[in-house]
Amino acid sequence: MFDCIIIGGGPAGLSAALVLGRSLRTVLIFDQGRPRHAPTRHSHGFLTRDGVSPAEFRRFAYKDLSAYPSVKMINEEVVDVRQGASGGVEVLSSTGKQAAARTLLLATGLKETLPQIKGLDSFYGQSLFSCPYCDGYEIRGKKLVLITESMNAFATARIIQHWSKDLVLCTNGHSILTLEQYRILGSKGIQVRDQPIHHLVGTEGKISGVVFTNGDQLYCEAGFVTPQLSQPSAICYKLGCQMNNKGAIQTDDFGRTNIRWIYASGDSSVVSPTQLIIAAGEGSRAAIGINMDLIQADF
Ligand SMILES: Cc1cc2nc3c(=O)[nH]c(=O)nc-3n(C[C@H](O)[C@H](O)[C@H](O)COP(=O)(O)OP(=O)(O)OC[C@H]3O[C@@H](n4cnc5c(N)ncnc54)[C@H](O)[C@@H]3O)c2cc1C
Repeated sequence: MFDCIIIGGGPAGLSAALVLGRSLRTVLIFDQGRPRHAPTRHSHGFLTRDGVSPAEFRRFAYKDLSAYPSVKMINEEVVDVRQGASGGVEVLSSTGKQAAARTLLLATGLKETLPQIKGLDSFYGQSLFSCPYCDGYEIRGKKLVLITESMNAFATARIIQHWSKDLVLCTNGHSILTLEQYRILGSKGIQVRDQPIHHLVGTEGKISGVVFTNGDQLYCEAGFVTPQLSQPSAICYKLGCQMNNKGAIQTDDFGRTNIRWIYASGDSSVVSPTQLIIAAGEGSRAAIGINMDLIQADF
């Protein structure tokens, strides 16, 4: 019986493991190894780690954790979780490994679904990004496109134009702007292209243009796209975790969900804004909540 099983070995789960290890707790991390920022080459904005690759980021984290022998890790997906008869939780991995713990931390991140546009996948994370705080600096002042089918298109364009005034908003044929929003965008020099997109062009990860279904082409050097975000697994729903109106797992300030001994942290409980450093902070906070609750139960 571990003190805590952590599902998800991104910054949230690994940071929680570090704090729990330092709190003399036995911890088992299950990680499928598909962090949300995997498509990108460089991660930015994490103080002391600005610009490292996702793989390097993990290597630094594993090195920190290797100093704490009570923290173990299994690189497998958790496919089932159930609450144990006498409290605690039991988990089952994809290869049939079973483990039990007094507490469970869900640090499973978020799943992204990109607009269905031919070619988009090959540019995502290299010259097309989703977050200006992560990648806006590197493409500042360039000729940008914003590809979005979201009702937040106007607000997103307003943020992106801060990094480059040379911006074209492509709605891919979706009616997502009001007449007033068209007017304001026009007055700010932001063009809107409403035609459905046929495909994107470019080489070696670098986007160079958008081709519309009517044959028109738009030249660009980089850009942003709005993905849809959802929980990556059904575990939180199966356990009966309460969700908030953004689709995140609802927690208190110490990562506690509505179910006793089940905690959540990172993107899966935050949704916006999502950043490595925020996820790591949330993981640390949940770990402190877990340790405090265990101390209280045992005292
Ligand atoms: C293209 C892109 C670029 C980004 N760049 C930056 C950046 O430069 N700077 C920045 O601060 N943020 C960046 N982000 C955001 C950042 O990636 C997230 O905020 C951060 O990864 C969230 O951390 P997390 O620990 O909550 O989740 P994740 O990092 O997504 O980790 C979750 C882990 O849980 C695992 N998992 C999920 N379900 C299971 C299961 N059932 N069993 C076992 N394991 C499971 C996943 O495989 C994954 O390894 C970027 C995001 C994207 C999409």
